[in-house]
Parts: sequence; structure tokens; C-alpha cells
Amino acid sequence: MTGNEMSGASEGGMERHQYDVVVVGAGGAGLRAAIAAHEAGARTAVVCKSLLGKAHTVMAEGGIAAAMGNRWPEDNWEVHFRDTMRGGKMLNNWRMAQLHAQEAPERVQELEDWGALFDRTEDGLISQRDFGGHKYARLAHVGDRTGLEMIRTLQQRTVQLGIDVFMECTVTELLKDGERISGAFGYWRETGRFITFDAPTVILATGGIGKSFKVTSNSWEYTGDGHALALRAGAALINMEFVQFHPTGMVWPPSVKGLLVTESVRGDGGILRNSEGKRFMFDYIPEFFRSETADTEEEADRWYDDKKNNRRPPELLPRDEVARAINSEIKAGRGTPHGGIYLDIASRRTPEFIRKRLPSMYHQFKELADVDITQEPMEIGPTCHYVMGGVEVDADTQESAVTGLYAVGECSGGMHGSNRLGGNSLGDLLVFGKRAGEAASAYAAGLGAARPAIRDEDLKAAQASALAPFEVEGGENPYTIQQDLQQSMNDLVGIIRTGAELEESLREIEAFKERARTMVVEGHRQYNPGWHLSIDLRNMLLVSEAIAKAALAREESRGGHTRDDFPKTDNEVWGTKNLVVTLDAGGTGVDLHEKPLPVMPDELKKYFD
Ligand SMILES: Cc1cc2nc3c(=O)[nH]c(=O)nc-3n(C[C@H](O)[C@H](O)[C@H](O)COP(=O)(O)OP(=O)(O)OC[C@H]3O[C@@H](n4cnc5c(N)ncnc54)[C@H](O)[C@@H]3O)c2cc1C
Repeated sequence: MTGNEMSGASEGGMERHQYDVVVVGAGGAGLRAAIAAHEAGARTAVVCKSLLGKAHTVMAEGGIAAAMGNRWPEDNWEVHFRDTMRGGKMLNNWRMAQLHAQEAPERVQELEDWGALFDRTEDGLISQRDFGGHKYARLAHVGDRTGLEMIRTLQQRTVQLGIDVFMECTVTELLKDGERISGAFGYWRETGRFITFDAPTVILATGGIGKSFKVTSNSWEYTGDGHALALRAGAALINMEFVQFHPTGMVWPPSVKGLLVTESVRGDGGILRNSEGKRFMFDYIPEFFRSETADTEEEADRWYDDKKNNRRPPELLPRDEVARAINSEIKAGRGTPHGGIYLDIASRRTPEFIRKRLPSMYHQFKELADVDITQEPMEIGPTCHYVMGGVEVDADTQESAVTGLYAVGECSGGMHGSNRLGGNSLGDLLVFGKRAGEAASAYAAGLGAARPAIRDEDLKAAQASALAPFEVEGGENPYTIQQDLQQSMNDLVGIIRTGAELEESLREIEAFKERARTMVVEGHRQYNPGWHLSIDLRNMLLVSEAIAKAALAREESRGGHTRDDFPKTDNEVWGTKNLVVTLDAGGTGVDLHEKPLPVMPDELKKYFD
């Protein structure tokens, strides 16, 4: 493993490495891609801005969606494909949804072959649990710590295979030779020294964008770096208006506001009540899901005992529906003392059951909020959780519009359409991580001697851009701008949007960009979080603009995009196209384009008759 202390570069010098495939990001997507690239014979490196093992994937709780049929033999890829497309309100790239549904079971099985220990059914098969929007129980899981087991397994394999890992190393620029990728440039977080990777392929696996919002389940790393790097390199982003607000984040105490409360609580029997004690989700069943959703408490409760013959409880509608319903109840004044809604599993399951199935949730509430979830309800509310939008890629290879640039996992777009079903991210990481790693290594192998080269002037420009905040005098500190941006995105581009607020948001983003041009960083390059933030902030601003612009253009409500001024889903105008974002001519903002949806073949269309 490569660490700062092993870098060998002289003080202030530039370290340089040669690889065939450089993977930026060490979550599930990045590690699976690196394993595939290495196994295909490519010289492979993984670069990640925090420690190896500390990616979002490790926080994933509920499970990996895969139609293995262990609980319901009637489950199969076709049903999973149909659920995914319906959950995404038909804007998903159908080919990605198909590949995902077909290949996820094999990828889960492979994880087990590599040493992952899943919970078991009574028959000794991998256990599968219920989640919103999935017709059958199909999330392979390890209690409510699935991501931890997944990362542990992938990380162990990465290390075993001897793949080079550069941790606490942030990539700030992608480098190109003409239209082709030639490498990546970044810095060591500890020393501030620069580092360059000469490589004909880069796989972006940098995760999400949640840190642009004030209330979020995301951690400090998720500043949309991959999204912004891709834009600046000439690739396009798709579906950026669709941001998933998870229905259940903690609302109290303030220090942990937004921290995720897994959907497994509802999958395992938890229900939502307002301050009047009403189980309100029955009032919010949309027409689209009415035929398969229980409309009485009795029928909903029977489902937990006899899932086969009953319609699903409304608490297990897709996340966008549940988050909007919670938001409406709170707005109508039926919220809890801390501005949330009650999530109650205590009155419905035994303490033993809760502690066994939801150990992390039990400890999370006990330690952080002094609430015993086996005895009393939790207070929860929506939290910015996941971005459906990301780099537009080819479904089979994950290659972007830029030759040699691939994107995978949360920073890629298309797979989830307007709304992701729970559990479909972890499956996505494995399926498309493998595909991207294989495609990138095949492309690199085919280049022979015709490898792209890095130009000196591009390296100088990358250094100058990274150091720019040190050159300014008398400007503002990046933390203030970041806080203002987060508040603004929360207030104006949040769960419910209007045209006027989105226009205001774009004006505010322009003002933040102006302030960021003169932001100032104190001190020197050695471990300097203010400097790191000043670099990340540029990405956050670009990505925020992409979200707000796309959200303003889409004059309808669908999935993770709700317009108060256009509350209906308008299939005629908006059901046939996606919005795509590219960098504008000035290089500091974005342009918006419409793109027709790829046409689904007839043999798949039949599932939606
Ligand atoms: C609390 C929580 C629970 C969740 N539960 C589930 C679940 O049960 N099931 C499910 O399917 N999904 C779940 N999700 C979503 C899922 O975990 C994420 O979407 C997924 O893990 C993202 O994986 P990734 O590999 O794309 O990126 P991540 O795991 O987010 O990893 C990103 C990597 O990129 C690195 N990076 C970022 N920028 C740079 C840069 N500039 N230079 C170098 N490195 C960089 C980071 O350091 C990190 O290593 C959950 C998410 C959260 C937050």
C-alpha cells in the first residue's frame, strides 16, 4: 500500500506515477472497478481522499437489492427490472436497469465467495429483506451493517491482490491529450504536495453531492468532485434535478440532524405517525401505486405476517412518496416537538427483535439522542441522501463522452431515473464497477504504444488553479461561503421547489461564485482543511448550479423533483426526455440541453402494459 510517508518525493517536488487504470474513489464502486481492472491485467491504482474503508458505502445499512429468490422463488430479474423502472418513474436508462437486475445476484454471490458473511434464511440461504418499492423481499443484508461487510470484503480483496492505494489523496483535475484522457492530478492531504498519475483511463467513483445541502446523511467527502471533474473534462451530467431526500433522518439533537435512520425500520414493521397519533401514510397513496398498496391498517398489518396475498403497507412506498408525505404533515403543523414525525417500531416488535434486526439503529438513538427505540418512537424527518443525477455514461461500459473517462456508482447517472429504490445503489456499485473496470482495462490494453501524454503546461495550470486561494488578499474564508451555500440549497432547492425560489437560488449561486473567486486561505499547504475546502467548494458550486438549473427547467413533479407550481407528472412533455448539463463556454457555469430517452425494446416494454 502506498502512503504519504512512502511517497518518496522530495519536499515541494512533484510525485509522478504510471498506470493503465486510475480509479478515483474507494467506495464499493471504486474498489469493485479496481479489482476488475487488476484481474483483467491492467496496472491499477485507487486514489481516495479519506482513509481506505471510510467511504459512504461503509455507512450503508439496509442491504443490496438482488433478485436471488431466496425468500420468494417467484422473484426474478424481470420483476426487479420492472420495480426499478417504476421506482424511477420510467426515466431510467432501461439498459442499465436491465443489466443491473440481471447481474446483481451473481455479484452478491461473488461477494460471499470472497468472504462476506450475510445473514441467513432458515434454510441457510442468504437472507433477503423488504424495502420500499421492491415487490419481493430482495435485499441481501448483514443486520443493518451491510455496507461495512461489503467494504470489508472488497477492501480485503484489493489489498490481497496488491492493488496500489493512495489514500488521503485528493484528485483536483483530469488531464487530457486532445480528446483523450491522459491522467489525473491531485495533492496529498497531509503534506499538500502535488501528485500526478499518467494513465490513459480514469474511472470516477467519487460518490455523491450531499454536502451542498445543510441537512444531509452524507459525510464531509461528498462534495460532487467526480461530477465537477467530469464536467470540466468535457463530459455531460444527466438527471441532475433529481435529488433523493430520504424520508427518515434524525431531527434531534441538532448536532446529528440528518443522520440516516435506515428504511429497514419500516421494512421490519415500523410505522409513521403524526403528533395526533394518526398513521397518516394512508392519506398519501398515489394513483400509480394504489392497486398494490394496502389502504387499511388491518390489511397493511396482515402483510407482515402473510406477504404473499396482501398489498404492501403505505410506509413502504418509494422514498420520494414517503418523504413528500412527511414533509406535508410537518408543514400542516402535525409534526413532533423537534419538527419531525414519529417512526414507531417499539409498539410493534419485541425489544429482542429490534436489537437483533436493527442493532446500529438501537445504539445510534441510545447514544446520540438518549432514546430507547425498543420502548419509544423515534423522531425523524427528510434528509438529503442521494443524487440520482451523475455523469452520463454508456450503459454497457460506463464510459463517458470523453475517451478514457469512465464513471461508476453514485457519481454516474441514468440507472435510477428520477428516484432510486433502496438497496439498488449497492447493487449498482457491484454490477457497474465490474463492467467499468473491465472496459477501462480493455481500452488501455488496446492502446499499445499510442498512449496519450500529459503536457507540462496542463500540469502548471492544474498547480496554479489549486494554489490560487493562497494568492488572494483580504477575501472571505471558504467556510462562510460553504455554510451559506448549504443553507441556500436547503431552503430553495430542497424537497419542495418553486420556479421563483429556483431563480433566486441561481442568483445566489452566482453571488457565491463571485465570493469564491476572492476567497482566501490562511497558512501553508501542510494539512490545511481551509485550503482543501476552498478546492472542494468550486465543485460544490458547479454541481449546485447544475441541480438548480435542471430543476428550474423541469416544469413537472416526478420522483426526487417536486415543483409546488407544477405538482403533476406530465408524461406527454417530460416523460420522453432527460435533461443533460454540460460546462458553459466560460468554463465556470453550466448549459442545459434536452435529450430524448433511449427507446426501450418491445420485449421489455411488455412488463409495463
Ligand atoms: C447512511 C447511508 C446509508 C445507506 N444505505 C444504503 C443501503 O442500505 N443500500 C443501498 O443500496 N444504498 C445505501 N446508501 C447509498 C449508498 O451507500 C451510496 O450511494 C454508495 O455507497 C455510494 O458508493 P460509491 O462507491 O459510489 O461512493 P462512496 O462509497 O461514496 O465512495 C466515494 C469515494 O470517493 C472518494 N473521493 C471523493 N472525491 C474524491 C476526490 N476528489 N479525490 C479522491 N477521492 C475522492 C472518497 O474518499 C470515497 O473513497 C446509503 C447511504 C448512506 C449515506
